[in-house]
Amino acid sequence: MVEHVKAVDGVCRGPGCQVPADRCDVDHLVPWPFGPTHVSNLDALSRGCHNGKTAGVWHVERVDDDGISWTSLAGRDYITYPKDWREALRDPGSGPPGACPDPDGAPDGAPCHESGEDVGDSPARSPFDPPPPF
Ligand SMILES: [Zn+2]
Repeated sequence: MVEHVKAVDGVCRGPGCQVPADRCDVDHLVPWPFGPTHVSNLDALSRGCHNGKTAGVWHVERVDDDGISWTSLAGRDYITYPKDWREALRDPGSGPPGACPDPDGAPDGAPCHESGEDVGDSPARSPFDPPPPF
């Protein structure tokens, strides 16, 4: 369930936050035991956003389309949604930093080097090679 939530959210669900979900806590939007431990009530939050929510700096509530409405102490509202993974299909250059924009050029998330580009002295490695011994 944790992996599912992080995969769907992609990044922290806090307003404007881009911490990758795999480095986030999984938070109950409605605190347990009042809210269920179910994907409909769980979101990836970076530690900072999680602490801000828990401390009451933000008032949060679920809105349509799996959105989260974040209201600051000053009354400003922000709504965040799970990552739109289709975005990378519409704009191939919007993948992770260093990822190859050509889907046929490298596996997902793999660094991309143009032919002739200086890649240093390290030999070419396949993502399927075993990791180095250090
Ligand atoms: Zn965050």
